Amino acid sequence: TAYNKAVAELNPRLNAFITTTPDLALEQAKAADARIADGSATPLTGIPIAMKDLFCTEGVRTTAASKILEPFIPPYESTVSGKLKAAGAVMLGKANLDEFAMGSANITSGYGSVENPWKRQGEVAKLVPGGSSGGSAAAVAARMALAATGTDTGGSIRQPAAFTGLAGIKPTYGRCSRWGVVAFASSLDQPGPMARNVEDNALLLNAMAGFDEKDSTSAERAVPDFTTALNRGVKGLKIGIPAEYRLEGTNPEILALWDKGIEWLKAQGAEIVDISLPHTKYGLPVYYIVAPAEASSNLARYDGVRFGKRVDGEDLIDLYERTRAEGFGAEVKRRIMIGTYVLSHGYYDAYYLKAQKVRNLILKDFTNAFGQVDAILTPTAPSAAFGLDEKMNDPVTMYLNDVFTVPASLAGVPAMSVPAGLSAEGLPLGLQIIGKHFDEETVFAVSAAIE
Ligand code: GLN
Repeated sequence: TAYNKAVAELNPRLNAFITTTPDLALEQAKAADARIADGSATPLTGIPIAMKDLFCTEGVRTTAASKILEPFIPPYESTVSGKLKAAGAVMLGKANLDEFAMGSANITSGYGSVENPWKRQGEVAKLVPGGSSGGSAAAVAARMALAATGTDTGGSIRQPAAFTGLAGIKPTYGRCSRWGVVAFASSLDQPGPMARNVEDNALLLNAMAGFDEKDSTSAERAVPDFTTALNRGVKGLKIGIPAEYRLEGTNPEILALWDKGIEWLKAQGAEIVDISLPHTKYGLPVYYIVAPAEASSNLARYDGVRFGKRVDGEDLIDLYERTRAEGFGAEVKRRIMIGTYVLSHGYYDAYYLKAQKVRNLILKDFTNAFGQVDAILTPTAPSAAFGLDEKMNDPVTMYLNDVFTVPASLAGVPAMSVPAGLSAEGLPLGLQIIGKHFDEETVFAVSAAIE
């Protein structure tokens, strides 16, 4: 009841939820009480969470923040949301996001922008919560929910976590099932948790992770209890500091934060190793070829016939065109055009194929680095949260936000953002810990040491 009330009070201002489900939440809370009474509770039983509106939820509208899915009520439940439900988590509602998870500021949603509950000291200007999991981040940061689900394709869990003072992990690609999650770029998309601290992330990931035969890229790996890694400490661990992330022009505050993080780990007995990830600078261009290419293919299914919205036309082609013209927002259309362009005959080799080859080099960078070190420490984002009206009309500046997060996505390795301090203006800043494939445990251990 208290959380339902917080949602009802704060959501009109922050717009963190597209759909709220107060009655369902109460019903689930009652069921949770019964489980606690009969001893069948899990650590998540009764925990109120926000579900990113990219996870299909049976009987509850799922929009992906797109008008094209406005009337869509899935008859099925995504694997990850189903696992959380089975663990007894209580769903407060469906959290806002960038349309189809395309964005870094939660300003492309068809249901309005999300506001960051944080403000610059002494200012009233509205700030973005980051994106695409901006609604999830704002909901937890504003204490409307105890935790949230996110998805991360190029930084959409880590960057909003950094912008709102939360911890959030993008697990190894394949760790959490993508089944029932509205697809953006299938070779990159990965669900994960967002919460106020590292321990809560570990508890959530325990429930969310695991092999799923319904997702062909899901990994057949045992899921360890991630909480046991939290107290391991970092003594004797080798932590890599990649030279290429020291970008010219990076905000000095971010670099100072990074240096502080290095000192903290050193003080706790970690060995700091300078490493090189030489293809880092190709991360952004490769990502902004691969992700739109996959998106253009995934989004072909929204034709006005199979899912959601339909705008009638004179004939079938006209119906497709009108539905897509009205249903998709500007950023989604931009990505579809980039994607179809790089996949088209004549450009495929020059863009898409080349990008795939460079993606492989980026992966090799990480493989080489992990021959020397146990984890890598970098900043999460090049700045703190920015104003709601800044960067609005400039997609390229917006894409630059993802410079530190996309390489780990392209390589499929796990990466976590932890709150690591405040900017001079009083805004939260995050540090990123990147680990080896399926070694979330070391990521958790290092993150817990920084937190
Ligand atoms: N900001 C990136 C993009 O716009 C990443 C989004 C995401 O991870 N879903 O594509």
